[in-house]
Amino acid sequence: MFRIKSSIRENNSILVLSEIINRPEISRAMISELTGLNKATVSEIVRRLIDDNYVIEIGPGKSTSSGGRRPILLTVNKKAGVSISFDVRYDRISYLITYLDGEKIDYTTEGKEMNKDNIVDTIASVVDHAKNTMDECPFGIIGVTVSIHGIVYDNKIEFTPYFDLDEIDLVAELEERIDLPVHIENEANLSALAEAAFDNEHKSIISFSAHTGIGAGIILDGKLHRGNKGRSGEVGHTVLYPNGTNCPCGNQGCLEQYCSTKAIVRKYQLLKGNPSLTFEDLVESYHQKDSSTLNLILQFAKDFGIGLMNVIGNYDPEVVYINSEILEEIPELISLLQHYLSMTIYKNVPLKQSILGRKASLYGATVMNLQSYLHVDNVEFSLNMEKVMEV
Ligand SMILES: [Zn+2]
Repeated sequence: MFRIKSSIRENNSILVLSEIINRPEISRAMISELTGLNKATVSEIVRRLIDDNYVIEIGPGKSTSSGGRRPILLTVNKKAGVSISFDVRYDRISYLITYLDGEKIDYTTEGKEMNKDNIVDTIASVVDHAKNTMDECPFGIIGVTVSIHGIVYDNKIEFTPYFDLDEIDLVAELEERIDLPVHIENEANLSALAEAAFDNEHKSIISFSAHTGIGAGIILDGKLHRGNKGRSGEVGHTVLYPNGTNCPCGNQGCLEQYCSTKAIVRKYQLLKGNPSLTFEDLVESYHQKDSSTLNLILQFAKDFGIGLMNVIGNYDPEVVYINSEILEEIPELISLLQHYLSMTIYKNVPLKQSILGRKASLYGATVMNLQSYLHVDNVEFSLNMEKVMEV
C-alpha cells in the first residue's frame, strides 16, 4: 500500500499543495498571498514538498512591478505518480492512464461484453501491466477509479440496469487482487468532475450524459452533489410518459427508455422493421434526410429537451455540458435544444457539447484519484484540449 508522506499530513501543507496543483506555475509569494500563510511558513512547507517529490522548481518567473529578484516558480511534479481510470459499460471497457496533471500516458477502448465474472480479471491485467512498466515513478500508481453506469453509494454498486455488476463487491475484490486504493463512482458524477476540472469559470455545473442510460452529474458551488444514497441526478428515471415503456428501475415511461442511445437505435430498428440496423445506420439515414428518420430524431430532441429542462429546473446551474453520441454525430441538435430552452424561464442557461466526449468519465476518475491521494477537494487541469484529445 502507498502511504501519504509526512509533508502533506497537516492542513497547511494541503492548502499550499492545492494552490500548486491548480495552477500551471506559482511563486512562494503568490501562495502566501492566496492562502494567508506567512512567507516563512510557506517556504518551510514548500521545502518539505520538494524533498518528498510532490513539487519541483521550474526556474525564475517575470520580475515584479517593484523590480527586485525574479521569483522561482513552482509546479506539481506530475511525473511523481500515475493514475489509472476505467469506464465500464455493458458492452465496452475503456481505460486511461495519466500523470498527476492529467497528461495522457495511454488510452485504450475495447468492445467486450462486461459482467461480474470477467471484470476483476480484465481490470487487474491492465493494472499489473502498468505496475511492471512504471517503476521509475516515486509514488507508483496512486489509485484506480472505476466509472460505473449505474447507482453507486458508499463505494458499493447499488443498481446497474443493463448488467450484473451489482451482484459482487467490486471494490473489495479489486483491492485484494491489485493491492492499491480502488474507488468506484457513477459515470455522470465523474463526467461532471472532469468538466469542472477543465472549466475554471463556473462553480455550478451539470453534466448530462446519455449513453446506454441517462444520468446527470451535479456540481454545486464547486462540490459534487451525490444526494442521500447516490441517486442525485438520476434524471434517466424521471417519467416522461406515464404508463409508457417498462423500465428496469421499476417504473414506466422513464426518459432513458426514449432518449438513451440504446433506446433510439431500438426505435429506429422498429421503424425500419430491421433488428440488425446499427447506430451508424441511423446516423447515415439522418444525413441522407430520410423523412421518417428525421421525424424520429425530431421527437428525440423534444423528449431530450424535456429531460434537460427538468434537471435544470431542479438545480439552476450556470452551464450544462452534454455528453451524448447522438449529439456528437448530429451537433445541430444543440442549437435546437437551446432554442427550446429560449422559450422558457431557462433561456439564459448555456448548453455546451462536451469536448471530452467518451473520455469525460475517465478524466473525472483521474480527478477522484488525485483528490483522494493528495487529500485535496478541488483539482483543476491546466492542460490544453489538443493534449487531452490526442489518442
Ligand atoms: Zn427507469
